[in-house]
Amino acid sequence: VGVHRGERVTEYSDDINPYNSRRLTLMGDLQNAVNNDLLELYFQPQVNCKQNKVAGFEALLRWNHPLYGFIPPDEFIPIAEKTGTINVVTEWVLDKALSSIAALNNSHHQMTVSVNISAVNLKQKQFLLLVQTLLNKYQVSPQLLILEITETAMMEDPENALLVLTALNQIGVKLSIDDFGTGHSSLSYIKQLPVHEIKIDRSFVMEMDSDKDDAIIVKTTVNMCHDLGYEVVAEGVETLTSLDTLKAMGCDYLQGYYLARPLPMSELLVWLHKQHP
Ligand code: C2E
Ligand code: CA
Ligand code: CA
Ligand code: CA
Repeated sequence: VGVHRGERVTEYSDDINPYNSRRLTLMGDLQNAVNNDLLELYFQPQVNCKQNKVAGFEALLRWNHPLYGFIPPDEFIPIAEKTGTINVVTEWVLDKALSSIAALNNSHHQMTVSVNISAVNLKQKQFLLLVQTLLNKYQVSPQLLILEITETAMMEDPENALLVLTALNQIGVKLSIDDFGTGHSSLSYIKQLPVHEIKIDRSFVMEMDSDKDDAIIVKTTVNMCHDLGYEVVAEGVETLTSLDTLKAMGCDYLQGYYLARPLPMSELLVWLHKQHP
């Protein structure tokens, strides 16, 4: 039977290719990593340009594998999406992100937490209920949760994405379009969505200093997004020069190594302590 033969060929080449055997091992180990708390959530600060203060954090997943060591999310998230483990992974991330922001916030300073959502999550029947349950569990105001979704993820099933994202927006959660400028969505589609902010992809921001075209793309995107009523986040801010340029362009929030790398909670607390109030 044609289809099965094709699959067997793939499995065979998996066995002789060391990269793919690693991939198979990771597939098997990820569920175990979630169950046994072997994942770790890092937090990268986002700074409000105009107020010059910490607005919130993007939650970024880390996996320290007992055999392979540190595995970047770019490698294991696609695997998690393929196997369906992404549903429990995202649940774990949301739980940690919300408990962490609940612990960090006080009546003087309310910060947001941004969580990356995959296309698979939007297809998950109970996703809205999950978000609602976790917001209740940690008593976090829904406006403090920002869900980041890439254009590419939304476009896998645009009609369903519209339904799910609209429902999430109705309970007060904010939506952010991630990696803006690199995907295949159209502005006419994005305009239908209850989007709160746009994140300009770091590939443009990182090269702004040296590449005039990138600076033009960033500037034009900031202006267009503001005209459409969206807030703008620039990620990949690595230099003081790009920080100054982005401020002058009127960008709302900045995120990048120049300000802070993604940090584990213990280091984040130290970093926060060093910021002036
Ligand atoms: P992303 O959502 O675009 O996240 C931003 C990435 O840029 C992070 O990589 C971050 O460490 C990196 N970054 C931040 N500032 C700078 C900078 O100034 N310069 C440079 N060169 N890079 C910077 P990271 O943590 O390796 O994550 C890679 C991707 O993995 C993320 O890209 C996101 O797509 C995915 N990811 C990470 N955590 C999660 C998660 O919990 N769930 C899902 N579904 N995806 C995740
Ligand atoms: Ca992101
Ligand atoms: Ca991004
Ligand atoms: Ca370029």
